[in-house]
Amino acid sequence: MTTKQTKNPKVAVPVITTEKTPIAQALQNHLIFSAFKTSEASTPRDWFVATGHTVRDHMVERWAKTAEAYNAQDPKRVYYLSLEFLIGRMLQNAALNLGIEPEVKQGLSALGHKLEEVVELETDAALGNGGLGRLAACFLDSMASMDIPGTGYGIRYEYGMFRQSISQGQQIENPDNWLRYGNLWEFQRPESHYPIKLYGRVVEFPTPKGTESHWVDAESVMAIAYDMPIPGYNTETVNTLRLWSAKAAREFDLAHFNDGNYEKAVEERNAYENISKVLYPNDASVLGRELRLKQQYFFVSASIQDILRRFLSKHDDWTVLPDKVAIQLNDTHPAIAVAELMYQLVDVHHLKWDQAWKITGKVFAYTNHTLMPEALETWAVDLFANLLPRHLGIIYRINHEFLQLVNHKFPGDTDLLSRVSIIDENNGRRVRMAHLAVIGSHTVNGVAALHSELLRTTLFADFNRIFPGKFINITNGITPRRWLNQCNPGLTKLIDKVIGPDFHRDLSKLRGLEALAEDADFRKTFREIKRSNKERLAKRLEHLTGVRLNPNALFDVQIKRIHEYKRQLLNVLHIITLYNRIRSGQAKDVTPRAVIFGGKAAPGYWLAKLIIRLINDVAAIVNEDSAVGDKLKVVYYPNYEVSAAELLFPGSDLSEQISTAGTEASGTGNMKMALNGALTIGTLDGANVEILEEVGKDNIFIFGLTTEEVAEVKANQYNPWDYYHGNAELKQALDMITGGFFSVDEPDRYQAIGEALLNNGDHYLLLADYASYIATQDEVGKLYQNQEEWSRKAILNVARVGKFSSDRTIGEYADKIWGVKRLDH
Ligand SMILES: *Cc1c(COP(=O)(O)O)cnc(C)c1O
Repeated sequence: MTTKQTKNPKVAVPVITTEKTPIAQALQNHLIFSAFKTSEASTPRDWFVATGHTVRDHMVERWAKTAEAYNAQDPKRVYYLSLEFLIGRMLQNAALNLGIEPEVKQGLSALGHKLEEVVELETDAALGNGGLGRLAACFLDSMASMDIPGTGYGIRYEYGMFRQSISQGQQIENPDNWLRYGNLWEFQRPESHYPIKLYGRVVEFPTPKGTESHWVDAESVMAIAYDMPIPGYNTETVNTLRLWSAKAAREFDLAHFNDGNYEKAVEERNAYENISKVLYPNDASVLGRELRLKQQYFFVSASIQDILRRFLSKHDDWTVLPDKVAIQLNDTHPAIAVAELMYQLVDVHHLKWDQAWKITGKVFAYTNHTLMPEALETWAVDLFANLLPRHLGIIYRINHEFLQLVNHKFPGDTDLLSRVSIIDENNGRRVRMAHLAVIGSHTVNGVAALHSELLRTTLFADFNRIFPGKFINITNGITPRRWLNQCNPGLTKLIDKVIGPDFHRDLSKLRGLEALAEDADFRKTFREIKRSNKERLAKRLEHLTGVRLNPNALFDVQIKRIHEYKRQLLNVLHIITLYNRIRSGQAKDVTPRAVIFGGKAAPGYWLAKLIIRLINDVAAIVNEDSAVGDKLKVVYYPNYEVSAAELLFPGSDLSEQISTAGTEASGTGNMKMALNGALTIGTLDGANVEILEEVGKDNIFIFGLTTEEVAEVKANQYNPWDYYHGNAELKQALDMITGGFFSVDEPDRYQAIGEALLNNGDHYLLLADYASYIATQDEVGKLYQNQEEWSRKAILNVARVGKFSSDRTIGEYADKIWGVKRLDH
């Protein structure tokens, strides 16, 4: 322990740890003062606590200084509103970004501990479903690393994404009690709390300036801020993720207590606090549940109030707001923010409607993440009227004025008016959140070139005519800190050695590796790294599932949410086809493969859960068949989450990105795979198109129908039976599924899969793409037998995917949408 003299010489303030304390010393101090354990009594978890606090200490000073700098310079800030932040673990990422990972490793090792083991004790912060939430987390990392004044706003769910276990082949959902042992990365900010109104009614009364609307008799719940530090890589900047937790405005009603009705007293309190209780586990689909709308309004209102409070602490001229505030809406989940800002400006701060609307339109921008109809949020007008009566009135007025404008621009086109109206009158009156978001934003972006083009020509074609220029593309990216440096230290070290460290801050510098693809020694080293990553993965898989994989096999990996459009079933059809070839002796020198799946199904998505079960049933048969041996193994990695992803991506040879063309907006798993040296087998969908552009057609396996061909096939009475009867291998594979080959105890188990693929139209065209997929997989298998060629292509993939750094993505958002600059330290 060191002692620092304060200005008052008589008082000595003990300083437990500072950035200056040697790390080994700091670890010991924290074991005592934070974990409250002696070395002898300590458990591994205590060392996680000590290490976490030690790393945290290195952030607080920078965090405070970043806040001070923002306060002093008053730059334009960007606020990223997202219902999901899929962060994962913090410890290793923080140590890496702060540049103290080697010291922490040494310090722990001097005390007889291993950093790799300590980091495993951290529970993932799984406050998101999948790609959309992970994107938000990558963006936070990039904003901090690029010194961009960016704050994330979201919900501090008490329970995050459910934890998946697999029991008898089936998904079991378990609550994710991630805060059970506390969260050492969060700081409660009791001084930052806001009342959030719900329900009530609107009264209007005339004033000399016109009619005023008042939201009265509302109930109220408190939003309390919890801040998490977001350290930038190799910079002093530490930004903030502010998550809101719901707290009852009153603890409980003492009247109920006095009546002896304790349950009722607590019930009311719980009803409010349930708002931030649990994340909705749906990905790419929505349920119109009231609690979900409450969650959205709750975090949006708290965030807008917080943003305006910060603005008002420096300014009194509202016209300056768009010069100081940019708000990004991550999908339509926070789209109610458009109405909330109007509410705050007009009702609370008494601006004129027109002035408020002008300001609002300059503040917001909206990112669309999907074209799928089941994912487009709408709310029943009745539900809305009950929960947010004033906001419904505001939306009506926004809509009225917008429709007038459209009518002026395109007179007499009543169909157009009904198509673009915020209110859908055809399905029992519903509020279309995407329309509110488009109308209230100055810019709308898609997340990959193909997706943005489809937005302009299909979903938002009408709006694109009304607002030409509003729709742009910004292709997604991933942070190379977590998805290369942290998850693949072997490859990172190798790259550092051969091209120097510039790629850490500018991933396009990876192009320097291209020439090395021709260097046999380099290829050998590259292969050895992949091999050791595969061994690491195989070891974990054996521990989790009991299935032992041969690291020489081609590791063929599909990890992502389970969804019909992502076509895990197409992968299963390939597995069964291979299995049949092996059994019938047609595959004497087939390339040994280990097919690895991972991913969660939404608890209410019955067919997706059936797909998980089928994968496990197929695995059970294939893995036990002595005729197959090492030639084919199938394994399901349970509870796919960020920390699992960090192990899976570096251990993959083949990246399965096989969604039906036109359905996957971007994908980001595809980027993580290529960056870690996996070759892609994929359709021309989402960002696969741009990966192809970057790596070149010789270094990727593209198959299947294009978006245009998909539309064509569907327009021409697509009949899956034709494909079934036209392809013997396909027929055999499907017959085995539906005939109970993989479910002998219950032969009908997979009838529904046969129904979906044959009788209900095969919506995602698996049968149409089957032959092309199988032929391409055959090429993949053949290439893998030429390890030199395979490595050449894998290296070229790593070298050429620098474009997919989220630093590039965030740079584009900053320039094209937000108009924010990097901070000077
Ligand atoms: C990257 C990532 C995703 C998104 O994967 P896609 O293949 O793009 O759907 C989902 N979940 C986790 C944990 C991820 O890391």
